[in-house]
Amino acid sequence: MSEKCPRCSLVIEKKGKFCPRCGAALDPKAVRATPQSIQPYYPERPKQTFSLVGFGLALGGLLIWFLVIPGLIFGIIGLKEEPAGKAYAKAAIWVSSVLMGVWLLLILGVIIVPIVLANYYL
Ligand SMILES: [Zn+2]
Repeated sequence: MSEKCPRCSLVIEKKGKFCPRCGAALDPKAVRATPQSIQPYYPERPKQTFSLVGFGLALGGLLIWFLVIPGLIFGIIGLKEEPAGKAYAKAAIWVSSVLMGVWLLLILGVIIVPIVLANYYL
């Protein structure tokens, strides 16, 4: 069973007393025995590569339709793997989904509207 570090959100596979990244106590009993001053927390730059790339791709989808697909995929990966990038990952998924719908309607419109008009006028 894996658990999450309460301080830095690192997912820990092996159960231990302390987080291997930030040193926070994982066992609630150990919290009292470990004063914060002994293990200062130096925050690492949180990982959010997928989330940011996904968000960028989703925005790129405004101009080029097929960018919404990797934007959506990167957003989903970011949401699952990068707690720090959750906001960007969610935005990437949201923007990609909306743009995908808009592009679909646009493409369908380009194909269907001329056919309907042709049937109507000819
Ligand atoms: Zn931690």
